[in-house]
Amino acid sequence: MTMENSPQPKPEKLVTCPTCGGDSVYAPSNLFRPFCSERCKNIDLGAWANEDFRMPAKGLPEDQLTDSDGA
Ligand SMILES: [Zn+2]
Repeated sequence: MTMENSPQPKPEKLVTCPTCGGDSVYAPSNLFRPFCSERCKNIDLGAWANEDFRMPAKGLPEDQLTDSDGA
């Protein structure tokens, strides 16, 4: 049995995932940091995209669109 003083892995820093509120490893090994997973990251990006789409929609003349669509 060998008892070499192998370098211990550094304690990974945990942060709170902005999407699910769970523990997320904040380290280079976590490509999706500060998110805990790719899924959470995509959800967050999706939320941003949705808001981005909504923003210009507010400036459109909805009345004209509705009128044209009704006919
Ligand atoms: Zn998460």
